[in-house]
Amino acid sequence: MNILVMNCGSSSLKYQLIDMVNESVLAKGLCERIGIEGSVLTHSPAGKDKVKFEKPMPSHKEAIQMVMDALVDKECGVISSTDEIAAIGHRVVHGGTYYSDSVVVDEKVKEAIKDCFDLAPLHNPANLMGIEACEAAAPGKPNVAVFDTAFGMNMEEKAYLYALPYEYFEKYKVRRYGFHGTSHSFVSGEAIKFAGLDPKTAKVIVCHLGNGASVSASIGGKCVDTSMGLTPLEGLIMGTRSGDIDPAIIQFLCNKLSISVDECLNILNKKSGVLGLSNGISSDFRDIDAAAEEGNHQAEVALEAYALRVAKYIGAYAAAMNGVDAIAFTAGVGENDKNMRKDICAYLGYLGAFIDAEKNDIRGENRVISTDDSKVKLLLMPTNEELAIARDTLRLTK
Ligand code: AMP
Repeated sequence: MNILVMNCGSSSLKYQLIDMVNESVLAKGLCERIGIEGSVLTHSPAGKDKVKFEKPMPSHKEAIQMVMDALVDKECGVISSTDEIAAIGHRVVHGGTYYSDSVVVDEKVKEAIKDCFDLAPLHNPANLMGIEACEAAAPGKPNVAVFDTAFGMNMEEKAYLYALPYEYFEKYKVRRYGFHGTSHSFVSGEAIKFAGLDPKTAKVIVCHLGNGASVSASIGGKCVDTSMGLTPLEGLIMGTRSGDIDPAIIQFLCNKLSISVDECLNILNKKSGVLGLSNGISSDFRDIDAAAEEGNHQAEVALEAYALRVAKYIGAYAAAMNGVDAIAFTAGVGENDKNMRKDICAYLGYLGAFIDAEKNDIRGENRVISTDDSKVKLLLMPTNEELAIARDTLRLTK
């Protein structure tokens, strides 16, 4: 039983074909420059060399047809016909208030994805294009939408409502949705299994620390709170996003710089975070780490501010759940940056959470990184959003 997983952006798409019998990746790849001159598909079949196909891809339709052709190709293919694909799972960023779980796509689902265009203007249109292109390329095959916001839809009102006039929620659905939900759900579930916790009552905090970053708190796998909000701008300091700020800064900067709100939001999304704090060194932690090691003060402060923000969220979420059994680190920074994990955990002694320097000297694999006497299990848990999408797709189409 093979599931094709699609993650469509506006000019690119990533895919994986996963054999669900043993959850192994048969092939993965990337189409770049869709709709732009110089389109290229890089296809990586398991155990074989990667292949590049350079052919015009005016739209997602041609791109997806090229992916299907590569999958069944005599040389670099991994299946003999597309009949061997049971279903297609799609990452969809925003499901609005419509969906708190993944769903098999029909016309109503497509309308709902469209209705959420203004909540995720860069992502949802591309996600829908990907679904429609798959419907055209593989007629009759079930498509499943797996929403980044679904996990956060399980929060209670007290956690998801903003303290704004209530009519804005009623009229415009202004609320906290949360993002990276597929990762938070996957990692919290894996953490419960890996640490041998009770799946019904386990209190887990997941720190998804990548270029975008968010924290979630869940009890028994159900989201209690999460740091991203109506958009992914809220919460932690990120690569280029500011995370939480005083909202009045927007008016202040618009006046000082004579810029529009849109321009100001562009600064908050693309020029802030550790990039802004480090005075422009980089949004990539490897560069900031290197600069800090050379004694660059702004780089040091960026790293310290980042760790402090994560620690503050962990403290808030431990309070919201009246305790925490496990804290899991995941995504690019969480999986690879042992110094950042150490700096964050240095704040957590009051919870009885202690990191073990030796066990923490690792990257990219499931591992308990706390000391044997730590009351809270600290975990390194690589995320796998593609596998999470494939599992949901299988569950809904079996
Ligand atoms: P993601 O969005 O999950 O792909 O994470 C990407 C980010 O992870 C990069 O921008 C880096 O900041 C960070 N990252 C990746 N590898 C390392 C590493 N070895 N050390 C520190 N940070 C890393």
